[in-house]
Amino acid sequence: MKKLRGFFIFLSVIALVFPLYTQEQRETPPLKITKVTESLYEVTGGSGANTGFFIGKNQVVVIDAKMSKESAVQMIEEIKKFTQKPVKCVILTHSDGDHVNGLSGFPKGIDIISHRNSYQHMDKAFEDQELREHLPNITFSDELNLYIGKEKIKLLYFYPAHTDGDIIVFFPEQKVAFIGDLIFLDRDPLIHKHKNGNSFGLVKTLKGILELEADTFIHGHGDIAHRKDIKVFVDSLEKKQIRIKNLIKEGKSLEEVKKEFGIEESQSRRPSIVEIIYQELKNK
Ligand SMILES: [Zn+2]
Repeated sequence: MKKLRGFFIFLSVIALVFPLYTQEQRETPPLKITKVTESLYEVTGGSGANTGFFIGKNQVVVIDAKMSKESAVQMIEEIKKFTQKPVKCVILTHSDGDHVNGLSGFPKGIDIISHRNSYQHMDKAFEDQELREHLPNITFSDELNLYIGKEKIKLLYFYPAHTDGDIIVFFPEQKVAFIGDLIFLDRDPLIHKHKNGNSFGLVKTLKGILELEADTFIHGHGDIAHRKDIKVFVDSLEKKQIRIKNLIKEGKSLEEVKKEFGIEESQSRRPSIVEIIYQELKNK
């Protein structure tokens, strides 16, 4: 009996430790820095979403902050291999933890910029005192231009999309834009309803992005994208919206619509994009 109990304890320890181990393995691949232009870099790996940085005349501007203090500190160390200029500013594409929870790894007193709605979400979410000391000190609602030496950085907000605080960090001279989680290459769009995200706003935002003179798009969770990737993504989302609109006109219920799209119950803990679009159309 004793042996058996020992075995069960062993099993439960394995059950507890194994997911943590695999999760850790999955979430923290080594940091990797890729040069995008002479002064712009993408950082993949570490904990959390892809980030990036710009080496300006006298300073470095980082876009997004990784998900943990350790990962952010490590990223700043890696940046030092490329430049001795100090990180003086972080721009946050939106408020999700995998983009902002590493803020406490940044030096105190630097500028932290976000959309004002993202500030509200972070203000609610940040409990840790160290993180609270890194709440943005600069917010805006529609547009903010930064001038770093000769470089102009345009921060733009269009509509509620992935959240209601997604900003586009556009480098017009270099035709590069950081677009956070506004696109995903191999999965459905992600709309955070609890942060007032909206699929129709996402379509309008992506069309706005396509109007910018940019050809390289760095985003949170996948390889660097180009104009055609955004076009394919927005087309497929728009087609879904139109199809769901027509199904609703035919009087189809949510269950029936989901069936049309081949969505099984409990496929994911998150509501599917089909369900989100259905609810948005119903609540119009
Ligand atoms: Zn996100």
